[in-house]
Amino acid sequence: MEPECIFCKIYSGEIPSDILYSDSLCFVVRDIQPVAPSHLLVIPIRHVTFLDEVEDDEFDLVAQMFKTAVSIAAEEGISQSGYRLVVNQRDNSGQVVPHLHLHVLGGDRLGVIG
Ligand code: AMP
Ligand code: ZN
Repeated sequence: MEPECIFCKIYSGEIPSDILYSDSLCFVVRDIQPVAPSHLLVIPIRHVTFLDEVEDDEFDLVAQMFKTAVSIAAEEGISQSGYRLVVNQRDNSGQVVPHLHLHVLGGDRLGVIG
């Protein structure tokens, strides 16, 4: 827990937020500024800023984030229509919140990237 971190504060309840799902490793909230009709964030409970800080023996955390994204997409009803998973890392990606998170974006046709 980082005292000044928005996502740590959401998990601790210091910032009120509707936690849609949680398990022992991660939790899910709706993005406060959605850029798609469905815009969810899968967030690890442990404060990790970047993927390259995830320890070699801790990658079950990343697996759990993806697994959670798949099930939350199903609950959101966007599995068949399609969705995009995004992890922003550092400055060139535009990462704003320095606590690792996986964006789940769907509910409409998304712009083509890549
Ligand atoms: P990123 O640019 O990948 O760091 O994305 C951070 C995301 O967190 C942005 O899409 C923000 O809209 C979102 N965000 C910031 N504060 C909150 C909050 N209190 N609750 C939900 N989402 C938030
Ligand atoms: Zn944090």
